Order: sequence, then C-alpha cells, then structure tokens
Amino acid sequence: MIIGSGIGGLVAGNLLAKKGHDVTIFESHSSPGGYTAGFYRKGFYFESGTLSFEASASVFKAMRDIGVLDNIAFAKEKIRWLSKQFDMIPEQYSDFKTALYDAFPSETAGLDKYFHEVDQMYEASAANNNKVIPFLYSGIGMFLSIVSYIFSAGKSMKIMKRLGNMTVGEFNEQFFQKDSKICRLLNGLMYPDMAAWLIGSVMGMYDDYWTVSKGMQSWADVLADNFEKLGGKLKLNSCVDKIITENGTAAGVSCNNVTCKADYVISASDYKKTFLKLLDDKSLIPAGVQTKIENAAVSEPVFTVYLGLNMTNQQLQKHMKIHHVAYCNLDSDADIHNSSDENYFDKSSVLLYSLSMLNPVLAPEDKSSLMLMAMCPVKWMNNWGSGSKEKYKQLKEKASQALIKKAEEVIPDLSHHIEFQDAATPLTYERYTNNSDGATSAWSWNPKKKFFQKIMSLNVDTPVRNLYIGSCWANQMGGVPGALMAAYICARKIK
Ligand SMILES: Cc1cc2nc3c(=O)[nH]c(=O)nc-3n(C[C@H](O)[C@H](O)[C@H](O)COP(=O)(O)OP(=O)(O)OC[C@H]3O[C@@H](n4cnc5c(N)ncnc54)[C@H](O)[C@@H]3O)c2cc1C
Repeated sequence: MIIGSGIGGLVAGNLLAKKGHDVTIFESHSSPGGYTAGFYRKGFYFESGTLSFEASASVFKAMRDIGVLDNIAFAKEKIRWLSKQFDMIPEQYSDFKTALYDAFPSETAGLDKYFHEVDQMYEASAANNNKVIPFLYSGIGMFLSIVSYIFSAGKSMKIMKRLGNMTVGEFNEQFFQKDSKICRLLNGLMYPDMAAWLIGSVMGMYDDYWTVSKGMQSWADVLADNFEKLGGKLKLNSCVDKIITENGTAAGVSCNNVTCKADYVISASDYKKTFLKLLDDKSLIPAGVQTKIENAAVSEPVFTVYLGLNMTNQQLQKHMKIHHVAYCNLDSDADIHNSSDENYFDKSSVLLYSLSMLNPVLAPEDKSSLMLMAMCPVKWMNNWGSGSKEKYKQLKEKASQALIKKAEEVIPDLSHHIEFQDAATPLTYERYTNNSDGATSAWSWNPKKKFFQKIMSLNVDTPVRNLYIGSCWANQMGGVPGALMAAYICARKIK
C-alpha cells in the first residue's frame, strides 16, 4: 500500500507491481503526480511544481526499467539569465563563467579566486554527472556502480570534507562584498544557504538539465497508466487519514473511514505528517524524535502567479527569447529569512516560465501561458495572514502585482495582456500536495540545519516495522533523484 502518487509513489508502485505484488496507491488529489504534475485553467496548462530536473542518467534508467522511457517527451532545457548587468543563455558551464567576467569587470580579482575553487568543484561533480546513482541498481550492478562512483567521487569527497557545513553565502563572501551585486547573484543561483560544496553540481546543471515538453502531467499520467496496466490500483480523491499499526508493525491505512489492510505501507508523501499526523500510535516514535521532526527546517517554498495571455507565443518570444528566464534583481536585498518584510516580493528576483512557448498546444490558439515564480520566506507575513481569508487575499494580490510589475521589465505591457490570472502561495502547494509549509524539495538545504546526520544518505526505514518512506523526504535534499532513490530502495525491501 502506497500513500501518494508523486514521482516517488508512482515509481515504487510500478516497480512493485512489476514484481507481481498487489499494490494500491492512495492519492488525495484528483489526479496523479504530486509536484511532478500540472493542470489546466481556461485552456491554459500550468505546472504544479517541478519545471525541470537534473540527474538524467538516473531518471532515464528508472523509466527504462519500468518500460516507459520512449513514451515520455523528455527535452533538453536551458535558462536565460537576465538582469540589468547581463543577458546570457549558457549552453555549458564555461559560457556562464565567461558571461560573469564580462558582466562584472570590476570583480575580476574576486572571480579569479572564486573560479579557482569552483572549477575544481565542477570538475569533481562532472565526473559523476552521467552516472546512474548506485541506489538504482541491485546485486552486482550496485556493487560495480558503487566502485565506479567512489572511484570518481574521491575529489568530491575531499571538497565536501574541506567545506564541511559552510553555506554558499559564507563561501561567496570570501571573494566578494556581502551586499555586492555579484554576491547577490551567486547566492541566489539555487537554494539560499545551501551547502557550498553543492556549487559544483549547480554549475553542472548546464550540462544536464531537462524538462518534459508535453508538461509534467504527461509524465505522471504515463507512469499511472503503466501502473494500472501492471495490475496496480490507483485510488484518486483518496486521502489517507491514518496509518494503522498492530504490535508496532504497519498493518494498513484508513481512508474515508474505511480500513484497508496491507503487509507493508510506503509513505510516499510528507515526512512530518506521516509521523505527526497519520501514524495511529505516536508512542512508536520516541518523544525526542517527534520534537526533532516537528522543529526540523524544510526547504524554502515558492509563490507562483499563473497567467493566461492574449498574446501569441511569437510575441512573447520577442521579449523572453526562450521559455525559461531567470530575471535577477541585484539592486536590492530581498532577505528570504525575514518573513515579516511585507515588501519582499518588490525586491525578489522572478522566474518567468512559458510552457506554451515550448509546446504551443498547451495554450489556446494564438494565446500563451506564463508562470511567474519567486522563492519566498517560510511562513511569510504570519503565514500569509494568520488564517484571515481577507488578509490572505490581500497578500496574494500584493505579491502577484509585485511579480507582474517586475516581469513587465522583461515583457512590456504584460499587465494589459492578462486574460486569466491566479496564484499559488506555499499554503496552496501544501493544500494540494501535503508538503509541510509548501517545502519545494524536502528538508532545508542548509548544512547547519540538517535533519539527517548525513546529507547524502537515504533513510527509508522508520521506527515502525514495515512502514517505509518512499518520497523525496527520505533524503535531506529530496528532489526528483531523492524520490527515485527512495522508491527503488522501498521496492527492493519488499521481497
Ligand atoms: C517549483 C518547484 C520546482 C522544483 N524543481 C526541481 C528541480 O529542478 N529538480 C528536482 O529534482 N526537483 C525539483 N523540485 C522538487 C521535486 O518536484 C520534488 O522533490 C519531487 O517531485 C517530490 O516527489 P515525491 O513523490 O517525493 O512527492 P510529491 O510530489 O510531493 O508527492 C506526494 C503525493 O502524496 C500525496 N499525498 C500526501 N499526503 C497524502 C495522504 N494523506 N493521502 C493520500 N495522498 C497523499 C500528495 O497529494 C502528492 O500527490 C521542484 C519542486 C517545486 C515545487
């Protein structure tokens, strides 16, 4: 029995059904996919979470193992980085590097020192870029892949050890002034305060960055259909309200007050809610562990504005050039740690993403779709208005207008072309996927706020026998690779 049909639940379900197990996936939403999904509003398609992914060798292996690789429209992805200082579409790491030197000539000395370190990180991580994560193999395959991984991971290990718990901000401030434009740019390339040793992987993104040109929902649908063809049962609109245990062992779930018995339960959903809400017998989790789970920091959420435009994709392209644009505001400091800064969204950067530019059938004829996204402080403005509906609406509108105004610096007159508008706050993301505080990729990426002792470890086992974690939350940094690894290990544990 699996709780959740995100990429973790769907992959675990497929692998187990393929082995001949009788598997049921319970999904609270009306369609499968979790964060790897999308939805239509007024004929415009938008993504529900993931826009893109890395670690393609592992993703493709998983889809090949399941037998659906050729049915998914995977496509190479690029980002245009844009600010008042630069405008670049790097095809590879070296392009990004050259563009930084061109954009910040007064920072040449700092950049030399910065890249002296970052080149080494990039090279170390590039050595493993095209390799499948060993967790996706079993038996001799796993052994060989671990040997090959360790062989090429030696340099990365040394870098990890040397940088320890240093955050990306602390790393960058060794070379640049804290409030300088270049420091703001480099601090904002991925998660704020992520471990400095991850910079190499972030730079490796230019070589291995992918999306699904038919939209993420098409990926989830292919996996869901295949699961059902293999005999699996996918129960949509079926929110699990309890994990039932007997003598400290998972024995099934309760959904809509109906008990469903099972030999194993895989929670392919939020970690905190699995233990703090769903588990029927909290005494199975030591009190100290419960407090640790409750207080653990999660990855930063996003705020998203969804726009349906009465503008053609060609018109949009004139301004955006490509469908994925990171528009960086380097002039002021949007402090992601300050959840009471009501003007946060006036200062933040904004990501513009138009899937209709990549695939025109995802919007009505002669129209286009656009998503505007900004990473935001956890529980911004008393968690979006302390429960007041009126305040929530006001804050949502304020944040939307701030992002639309900023996007108009890229697409002039954007506000006059809006035919459909909606927005998702972190509370919306949580409502649709159950991820605590709208966490975008499991736990905090800050190495000083680790939940698991080892940041790269995979933790599918729980204090409850036969209850496993099959979602990205089994790994500190989650993501699509985290969910895949968890799914594989769970499927392997169930003989
Ligand atoms: C904006 C954004 C951008 C991202 N970009 C990237 C990226 O570039 N690369 C990358 O690797 N990752 C990225 N991620 C992260 C990635 O999307 C997730 O880590 C991954 O998809 C999580 O998959 P999952 O299966 O673990 O969980 P989820 O996708 O969260 O699925 C959990 C499922 O469980 C269901 N569920 C929860 N509770 C219950 C219940 N009680 N009963 C029944 N069903 C339940 C939910 O409805 C949901 O469908 C991004 C995420 C976001 C939001």
